[in-house]
Amino acid sequence: MSLESGRETGEASPCIIKTCVDNVEFQAAHVTPINGVLTLHGHSFKLTLCVSGKLRRSGWVVDFLKLRDVVRSVVSQYDNALLISRRFSESIRVSGNFTVKLMIIDGPPTAENIAIEICREVGKALLKAGINGFSHVEVRLWEGSDFHAEVMCGSGSGT
Ligand SMILES: [Zn+2]
Repeated sequence: MSLESGRETGEASPCIIKTCVDNVEFQAAHVTPINGVLTLHGHSFKLTLCVSGKLRRSGWVVDFLKLRDVVRSVVSQYDNALLISRRFSESIRVSGNFTVKLMIIDGPPTAENIAIEICREVGKALLKAGINGFSHVEVRLWEGSDFHAEVMCGSGSGT
């Protein structure tokens, strides 16, 4: 079978494909060391999220628009939030004449750990939305414009 024939006959393609959504942005604050001192500060984060799998007979791995909807829904939970480590979740006190949206992160709230959380949550949300057939989710998360972390996690579906 050639690479072309599968697409023409409706057979699944043997290629592994990545379907991605880019330029998903959120603003958040976190507490990480700066010059060795734990410091509360904020960033503009931007991410690309890809799902990989075999091409379906429909011609896609996941519908772009459905993928974007799920990613935006998950990422909206992080927008304008204070991301803190579970370790500090009981002891942190922030008060004033304003609201604080706390997001608990497993481990220090670094770009790496935030990317892991988003990767896992999007994988679960896709399955919950009935979107399956992908093997991995990948996240490239930029913290500002100079640094990014990348993570790949399984679909969680056991496929
Ligand atoms: Zn930072």
